Amino acid sequence: MKILLVEDEQKLATALKRGLELQGYAVDIVGDGKKALTRISLHRSDYDIVILDLMLPSMDGLEICKQMRAEDITVPVLVLTARAETDNKVKLLLSGADDYLVKPFSFAELSARLRALSRRPTESVPEVLRSDDIELNPVTRRVTRDGHSVPLTLKEFGLLEYFMRNPDKVVSREDLLSHLWDFNYVGFSNVVDVHVKNLRRKLGGGDTGLLETVRGIGYRLRA
Ligand code: CA
Repeated sequence: MKILLVEDEQKLATALKRGLELQGYAVDIVGDGKKALTRISLHRSDYDIVILDLMLPSMDGLEICKQMRAEDITVPVLVLTARAETDNKVKLLLSGADDYLVKPFSFAELSARLRALSRRPTESVPEVLRSDDIELNPVTRRVTRDGHSVPLTLKEFGLLEYFMRNPDKVVSREDLLSHLWDFNYVGFSNVVDVHVKNLRRKLGGGDTGLLETVRGIGYRLRA
C-alpha cells in the first residue's frame, strides 16, 4: 500500500509518515499543491490512497481533487481539513473526495479511515454484475455503461455495487451508511444523497432514471 501525503505542515507530515510507515504503508510527502497534482498525474498507478490537506501553497486541495477526477484518476482521496463547515464538506464530496477528517484528529482515527478506503473486494468473487446496460466488475473495479468506461470514486463504486447486488429492493440510507461508511463515521446526514447524486450524474440518468428515489426511505435500482 502506497500513500501520497499532500501536506505543507512539515512537522505534521513527518509525524504522519512515521506513524503510517510503522503500519506498513509506504508514504511519499509533497508539500505544494501544483507539485502534488503533477505527481499524481504522472504516477497515478503508483498510489493506493491520496491524503490531501485542504490549505496548500499554489493550489488548494479542493482544486487538486477536482482536477484529478477530471483526468479520470480514480485513486481514493482522504481530505484533511481544518474547516468544519458543512458547506465545504459538501463541496469536497462533490469534487470527488471519498472521505475527510477534520483537524485535529487522532492517529487511530486516520488509520481507521485508511483501512476503510483501502478495503478491496474479495478476489474470490470474479463475477461481473449486470443491470440494464451497466456492467460492474468487483475485482477490477471497472464499470461500463453501454460499453463505455464510467470512472467512479471508491464510494460511488461501493454504492453502485451495493445497489446492483440488491436489484429492485428499496435500500435505505441507513443500510448504505452501515455498509459503506466506517463504523465510527460521524459525518453529516445527507452524505449518502450527495454520493448518489454524483453516481447518477456519471451514469447519465436523473431522478427518473435507473436509480429511483424512494421518498422518505432511500433508493431503488430498477432491474
Ligand atoms: Ca496546510
